[in-house]
Order: sequence, then structure tokens, then C-alpha cells
Amino acid sequence: MGSKLRIALAFAVVTFFGTASRAPAQVAFTTNPAPGVPTPESVLGHRPGDDFYLVNYDESRDYFRKLAASSNRIKLISVGKTTRGLDWEIAIISSPENLANLDKYKEISRQLADGRGLTDDAARALAREGRAIVHLDGGLHSTEVAGAQQSVNLAYKLVSSQGDPEVDAILNNVILMLWPTLNPDGQNEIVGWYRQNVGTPFEVSPLPDLYQEYVGHDNNRDGYMNNMLESRDVTRAEIEWDPVIFYCHHQTAPFPTRIFIPPFVEPISSNMHPLMGRWLNLIGTDIAAYLDEHGMPGAVNRVGFDNWYPGFLDYTHIFRNSISFFTETALYRYATPRFYTTDEFPREQRALRSEVFYTSPWKGGWWRLRDAVNYMEGASMAVLDVASKFREQLLFNRYQAARDNVLRFQQEPPFAYIIPRQQRDLPEAAALVEKLMINGIEVHEAAKPFHANGREYAPGTWVVLMDQPFSPLVKELFEAQEYPELRETPTSAPKRPYDVTGWTLPMQMGVQVAPVLQPVAANERASLTKTGQFTPPAGAIEGTGAVFVLSHKPNASFKAINQAFAAGGHVAFASTEVETAEGAEIGAIVVTGVDGGRMEKLARENSLAVRAVAVAPKDVVAVKKPRLGLYRAWSPLIDEGWTRWILENYEFAPVTLRNGDIQAGNLRDRFDAIILPDARPETLRDGFGPGTIRGEFTGGIGAPGVTSLREFVQAGGILITFNNASLFAIDELGLPVKNVLAGVKDEDFFCSGALLRVEVQDVNDSAVWGLPHDPIVMFERGPAFEPKEGFRGRVLASYPKEQSPLMSGYLLHPEKIQGKAAALEVQYGKGRIYLLGFRPQWRGQSHGTYKFFFNAIYESQGLSRPGAAQAPAMKSVEPVGPRTEGATSKPPSP
Ligand SMILES: [Zn+2]
Repeated sequence: MGSKLRIALAFAVVTFFGTASRAPAQVAFTTNPAPGVPTPESVLGHRPGDDFYLVNYDESRDYFRKLAASSNRIKLISVGKTTRGLDWEIAIISSPENLANLDKYKEISRQLADGRGLTDDAARALAREGRAIVHLDGGLHSTEVAGAQQSVNLAYKLVSSQGDPEVDAILNNVILMLWPTLNPDGQNEIVGWYRQNVGTPFEVSPLPDLYQEYVGHDNNRDGYMNNMLESRDVTRAEIEWDPVIFYCHHQTAPFPTRIFIPPFVEPISSNMHPLMGRWLNLIGTDIAAYLDEHGMPGAVNRVGFDNWYPGFLDYTHIFRNSISFFTETALYRYATPRFYTTDEFPREQRALRSEVFYTSPWKGGWWRLRDAVNYMEGASMAVLDVASKFREQLLFNRYQAARDNVLRFQQEPPFAYIIPRQQRDLPEAAALVEKLMINGIEVHEAAKPFHANGREYAPGTWVVLMDQPFSPLVKELFEAQEYPELRETPTSAPKRPYDVTGWTLPMQMGVQVAPVLQPVAANERASLTKTGQFTPPAGAIEGTGAVFVLSHKPNASFKAINQAFAAGGHVAFASTEVETAEGAEIGAIVVTGVDGGRMEKLARENSLAVRAVAVAPKDVVAVKKPRLGLYRAWSPLIDEGWTRWILENYEFAPVTLRNGDIQAGNLRDRFDAIILPDARPETLRDGFGPGTIRGEFTGGIGAPGVTSLREFVQAGGILITFNNASLFAIDELGLPVKNVLAGVKDEDFFCSGALLRVEVQDVNDSAVWGLPHDPIVMFERGPAFEPKEGFRGRVLASYPKEQSPLMSGYLLHPEKIQGKAAALEVQYGKGRIYLLGFRPQWRGQSHGTYKFFFNAIYESQGLSRPGAAQAPAMKSVEPVGPRTEGATSKPPSP
């Protein structure tokens, strides 16, 4: 790993600043290691934290295995698989006596976390007897490398120390769940990348890939949705073990502070139990004191980070009464050290003045990986120390929170939430139920007609009774968010949220949910059955015949289409009204050439009600499996990953297009539709700049790529652009469309993630088939459109003219977008461009708007639009009979 160049660079820095390197911050807690316990150096050849060295996940796992083989203070358990297929092991560390009685302590934790059936006295006795289970980890974000180095050192310290009263008390009072990292795949990838580059001019260059296969840095935004395997593994373990504290390490302290620690900044949710917030603040302040006590200055609280969004995987648990939080330690890059002088500090901090929440300002100097690792180890020790000292109170408070939540929703609304089965998209309603159950929420089903809100709901209705211990999470996810308007002065711009402001899950998923505002009657309650394991609704075929008709409304119908293609079947869309199991509709999906048994399996797997008929409807447009390309930049786009994940789940089989693939041209020969995921136009165009990374990863779509895309659309291709990628298409292809928000200041319009209502212009338009009249979209710092002179195309959806479109979250100056277009189809040569000015697939949550791009993908194939005068050639009516071979094989003429 050594390199003359790297040493020369480091030397140059020292010489330049004329300052000798000071020793890294020493953690004062030295150990008296037990013989026979392997040191990290003896196994890895390095002590994690060494300059220019990083341990990867495989090596770290080997070390943990050797550690476990040497001591009865640690055992390893498997928590599942990662997305790229690694076996994920975590360590349970405690005294040998506690480890011998793990089941007993887990059961005590479970009883206290549930709270029901306990008296306060019984809970006090259990709290006295129990142990504080604590979750610590090596971080979620793999580029924030120090966390996963720290976890190795922390494990060694706790397992090897002898005669250290602090460690002894921790081992006796605490059961530590230590996750070496929360992203094993990413740790392997990032370390591999650094090893390729260390000692070269590109030593600190960014990774040209998402370090979580699909979502990269968004792997901490998946906390309640649990779309990714890793999130599910974490949530499952959290619910099984009921830790009182969940602490996750990150790295990006606001410069020049050395570590950001809670208290967070405003605002916070009113749904968490107040004791959780109190403990969070106490623990945060304690960590800062602990670091000062051990010679590590520069901790700051209450700057930058708020926790308004409940989807942070290291925060969601607070709504399950687990004190969940993260810290942000300073990071330079990878394991490369950096020297800082106070000249680089923001002007107001150069005087090194103490502040209320930054009492020991950092004075500058060297910052090495070792420093970051030590700060993290110190912060972890502080948390364990608090858990050890306050074990009994923490456990009792956890019981109190559960008890209070149950009592609260016996006395105030919402007493329950009802999820009826009469939905536009029943499989999505079921998906919402499944999401709740993954989150440890109890769901009931009505065995007979269920009465609430003065209405009768059909048997099978799902009911979420709110007098359960984790109900704050349901309220947090189901209600509309009201983000408080926080301004420093009445005229200054409102405080910007750290993440989005509104996420109401039923709105995002397009599912109807009703809060129950009066107490549920005892006899109604008695008729409910608790759902043991989630079972999706039974899909089935009704009627007879070899022609199968599916509604265009369920998203799952699109998966069924792709599966029908895979089974050699034919698919067409009805261009006039046809009866489906969900009622009559235009756009019904007609499948032929798939045998009844196979179709029944498709219906069952996708929870779809399929109607079988003998004769195919007359007015249909045959479609073939769309050949779909998805642009993937070297400068990794999280939105690309989410899109790829969704398209793969729905079995669209997207083909990844790199810069070279696009620039090579002749795209129309290979693709029907191409998606450009959300990104700033300059990112799409230019990618990584020259000199920032090895040459093969520099550049973007560029001018040659734009030419190829232009030819592709002119030849009949479909280009679909998400959110700000729309601006790339408008600029580069010269579309007669104006972004009315271009250049508008934050004070004049602000919406960084809120749910807005749009109005669909014509629900019978093939581009919006299956959507309701007024879908709810996730708007996140995107554009809003106005057609300009010379515009040819259709407005697909607009923000309402007469009222604010805001449904959930925060929207400043709605009038700026009222009446403006949210989604447009632009005619361009023989093809079309879809400008979607929102996030139609945001983080795999906004299921209610997937059809905006699912439909567009098919638009290259001559879908009819009844009454669309400008597209007469697209009306191809080819009747599809049962097993009519070849009916769909003819490409449509544009
Ligand atoms: Zn992070």
C-alpha cells in the first residue's frame, strides 16, 4: 500500500504549513488485554484507523470470527443476506453470564417493550432484573469509512479488557448488538476502490457507483419502507431484540466541528413519546462531555441536522420507543489524512470562541482516520456507559412509553385506521398492510361487516387498532404532515428542512385509508381477528375463455404483462371501454396466448382479479415487450438505482445505458423507450470533470450523446425524463417548454419534498390510463411547466388552478405553480418526450404515480388516444383473438 508519491504529497502538506504532525487524539481508555484474545493487528496486519489502510467487510468478518472463537464475551449471529448476497453476521457482546441467559433477557425486553399485561410494579421488577440491549454499528454510508473501522476496535476493547471497571460495568449491565457495518456490500466495494487508487493522483477520487446496489446513499432513507434487504434485516432484528438505544455512526460534521451529536435542530415530530426525545438529548450531551473528558474536543450539538423525516433507518425506531439517533464525525476522505489551518475556517469561527453547543472548539491541525475512529469509539463507549448506568430507568421508561401509547389511543383519536378492500389498486393496499407488519405493527381483519365512522365496511377490511405500543409510527406515516414555518425573522426565508417535509404513505401509495374518530365499539372489536402472517389478497380468474382481461389500475397488472410476455403471450390495450373485474374502463389489458393454468398463477402471484372471456374486444392496440434503456451515469445517481430496482421488480428488464452506449447512436434500432433519471442537467451532460477521477469515468452524455438522443426521438423513440432531467431535455433538445420556477428564489417559492395534488387532463388518455383524476405526486425541488409558442403535444397533468395543491408537507407560495403543468408529452419528430416534473417513483414509495412512466414506456407502440386529432396514425386497431399468433408482432408505424 505504500507509495512514494503519497508520502511525497503528505510531506509537501506538512512542509507547506510548516507544522509538524501532532499525534492523533489518544483515547484515554487503555486496555489491559487478556492473553489469547487476538488483536486486530495480529489478524489484519494493521490496526484499523491506520493511515492509508481500510479493513473491508470480509476481513472484518474474519476478525470477528477469530475474536468469537477466543472469548465467551462475544457470540456471532446471522441476521440475513445482503443485496449482493453476502452472509451478514453481527456480534452480541456482554458478560459470559448474560450471554448464557440471552433468551431470558430478550424476553424481559420484549415484555417491557410491549407493556401490555404488566402492572407498573411488575414492570419495575422486570426493569431491575433486565439488561439494557443496545444497538451500535459501523455506519450506513460506506464512503463514511471510519465507522466500520471503529467497530473492530470497539469489539476488541470490550472483549479483551481486564480489570477496567468501566468495561466491566458495561458488560454486566448491557447486551451490545454490534453491527460491524450496516452495509457490508458497500464496505467491500469502497475499500476495493480505495485500494486501487491509494498512492495514485486519484487517491481520494469518488466511487463511480452506488455503494448499495440500488440506492447508494439513500440506504438511510428506507427506514419505514424497508424496500432494501439490508433495511429489512435491520428492522427485523430491531423488532426481535427491542434495543433501548439504537445508535448509528455517520461522517460529515459541519466544518470545523469534529463531531455533530444530538440534540438535533428543530423541528421534531409530535408523535414520538416525549421520554424518547428527552433521553436522546441527554445521551447526546453526555457523549459530548465524554469526548471532552477524554481529550477529544470539537463536539457540537444542535447544528444542521433535523430529524423531521421519519424514514431515516437510524431514526424510525424512535416511533417504536427505541432511543434512535446518529452522529456525524468529521471526514476528510477515506484513510487519507489532511492538515487544516484556522485560515480555512469560516470567518466567524477563526477566533475559536466557545459557543453554547460547541464549548470546546477544535483548533485545527491534522485530521486522520485514526482521529475519526477514536472519536467514534469514544462516542460508542459514552453510549454504553449511559446504558450501563441508567439501565433500570431506560428499561422502565421503555415500558412507560408503550403503556402511555396504548392508553393515549384508548382516549383520543385516531382510535383506529381502516383500510378497506374496495380500492382502485387492491394489491397496493395490501402492500401498505405488509409494510405496517414489517414495522412490527399489529393489523386486524374484520371477519364480518365492520362498523365505524357511521359506515359499514365489508368483511376482510383491515383495521389498525391504535391502542398498541408502536402506534406513534402509524400516526406518523398515515397523517398529513404540517411542517412548521420556522423563520429567524418575519421577513427571512423559512428554515429549510434537512430532508422532505411530507411523506403520508397512503397518499403516496394511492391507497384509501380512513381514520376512526370515535372509540371502536366492544362488539366490533371482538369481531376482529389479528393477522398472524401477512397474506396477500387472493388473485383469481372469473369467467371462462382464453382471452384474459385485466384492469389498468393496479400497478401489479404491469408485472403481469411482463410475465405474460415472458410466457410467450400477446398483450394489447383496449382503446374503447371494456368490462374488467374492476368495472368498465378504457385501457383494459387484454392477454392472449397464455394458457389458463399459467394465467391463474399470474393472477394469484400478483393478487389480480382477471376476467376471462371467449372473444377479444374489438378495439385494441397490440403492444410488444418494450425495449427499455435506463441511463446510468458514472457520477452515481440514486434516482437511477431506485428506478432500476422498481423496473426490475416489475420485470421490465431495463438495459443499462452508459455514456458510450448513448453516444454510439442508432438507439432507435435497439430501444423503444429510454429513461433519464432525476439529475441536474449539468450532471447529465458533463458527469465527473476531467482530473477528478480516472479518465474512463469522466464526462457525461455530452454533445454526441445529445445528438444520439435527438435522433432516437425523431425516429419514433420515447424519452422519459424524471424531475430535473426534464430541464436537460428542454435545454438540449430545444423544447418549446418553459420552467416557470427557473431562477425563482427560495423566499418566493419553496418545496423541497411535499405531496401535491395534480389534476389529470383526460383520464382516457393512454399516457395516464389507470390513474385517478387527481393523483398525488412527490414534488422535490423540481420544475413546473408552461408550454411556449410552437408547442406540439399534450398536457397530461396540472396543478389545480383555484387552490393550493398541497396535501402533505410544506409549500411556500403555491400560486407560483397553480395552473401550471406537472407532466407533459412533447411531440418531437416521430417520437415523443415525457417531461415528468416530479419524482414519480420517489424512494420506492410513491407507488401511486408509477403509472406515469409505466404508461409512457409503451407510448412508442402506437397507443390510441380516442379523440386525439394530432395522432390519427397511432390508432391501430388490430383485433386480437385467442392464441392469434403474430397479432402483436407487427411493429406499429409511427
Ligand atoms: Zn452518512
